[in-house]
Amino acid sequence: MKLTTLGASREVGRSAFLLEIENKKIILDYGVQIRHPMKWPLHVNPKEIDAIILSHAHLDHSGGVPSFYLSNDIKTYCTKPTAQICDLLIDDFINLSNDVTKQYLPYQHQELEKMKESIVDIGMNSEFNIGDIKVNFVNAGHMPGSVSVSIEGEGKRVVYTGDINSSDQNLVKGADTKYGEVDLLITEATYGVNDHPDREDVEEEFVSFAKDVTERGGTLLVPAFAVGRSQEIACVLKSHNYSLPVAMDGMALKTNRILLENLEFLGDSELFKQMINGLTEAKNWKQRKEIMNTPGVIIVPAGMMVGGLSSYYKGSIAMNEKNAISLVSYQAEGTPGRTLLEKKMIKVDGKLKKIKGKFEHFNFSSHSGSKQLFEMIDGIKGNPTIVAVHGEEEQATSFVQKVQKDYGYDAIAPVLGDKIII
Ligand SMILES: [Zn+2]
Ligand SMILES: [Zn+2]
Repeated sequence: MKLTTLGASREVGRSAFLLEIENKKIILDYGVQIRHPMKWPLHVNPKEIDAIILSHAHLDHSGGVPSFYLSNDIKTYCTKPTAQICDLLIDDFINLSNDVTKQYLPYQHQELEKMKESIVDIGMNSEFNIGDIKVNFVNAGHMPGSVSVSIEGEGKRVVYTGDINSSDQNLVKGADTKYGEVDLLITEATYGVNDHPDREDVEEEFVSFAKDVTERGGTLLVPAFAVGRSQEIACVLKSHNYSLPVAMDGMALKTNRILLENLEFLGDSELFKQMINGLTEAKNWKQRKEIMNTPGVIIVPAGMMVGGLSSYYKGSIAMNEKNAISLVSYQAEGTPGRTLLEKKMIKVDGKLKKIKGKFEHFNFSSHSGSKQLFEMIDGIKGNPTIVAVHGEEEQATSFVQKVQKDYGYDAIAPVLGDKIII
């Protein structure tokens, strides 16, 4: 069998792999790296592809999939929440590219529609076949509906982790990493050599910061990705009995509705329902004004503070010293979130200004840290070849060096276009 790395090679973003097995060509994810300009995976001829398997809905894994549907009919296999969230994210991505960022996309709404019609939704832990190949999805613990994929053919077993988190979150249970006998493991290595602080400590620090700010009459603004992180933050507040209003806005509200239809994919569905019942929804400008004048937490869907809603809230909130902003995820180079993190400054009316309120960054990750990645390697049986993807150069190369040294396995941090034959 042969694996070609079409993206996510010594980089995070545009995850895309071609697996040739049992005379079939299978695409594992086909994402986009959202930068200026955008980066797409290496091209493959859609006519030669037999099937697409999608690990989860994030655009860095799914954003290129509609380009297979310009004139072809290929099945895409994924879970139901992945299909529904993909539709939401890619639809928004097309609209933003057409109307706001004016970046060229290799497809439009029509191709997204065709992709939707071609999706076969697969349950967690249920086996299916593509020709003579046996495929199984297991929980990857990264976001609702995310899976790791096990593929058997030619008497060998391949496991692709997708994005993985083996620690429990409120929204999703930790990944199932008991893969058993493996010949080829394609693993993410976002945090190949870095560890995260203890999750429970981060949650407690965050909630106590929220209480501190809001019980004194302030508002805490939390910019967070609309899918997953927004709901996780609201669940963290709920599970720690935070009692003041928690408001959500924008695409996060659409995500809530999708997740309510997919409760079986959630870690603690009771907690999720309670969170939704207590939530204040900001749906129009009148409501937005109201929640900004009420002490409480506002979760706004813009992980790195990019976008209109974030701009609307941040100006008035950050310039009042009784308020605060918390960032709860990674902030990429060149984003307003990164500027806030490094300089405590935000842009108001086109000018960079020092914020007057408080600011705090909390490390809520939905990826395994190095410790969890090595626990996963510990559990593997057989003598696998390990391919480390979805990690910056330093993370991926140091990770494979440690695997070679400590386990004696063949381990590779591929570069773009590498072919690995086993
Ligand atoms: Zn992801
Ligand atoms: Zn990813």
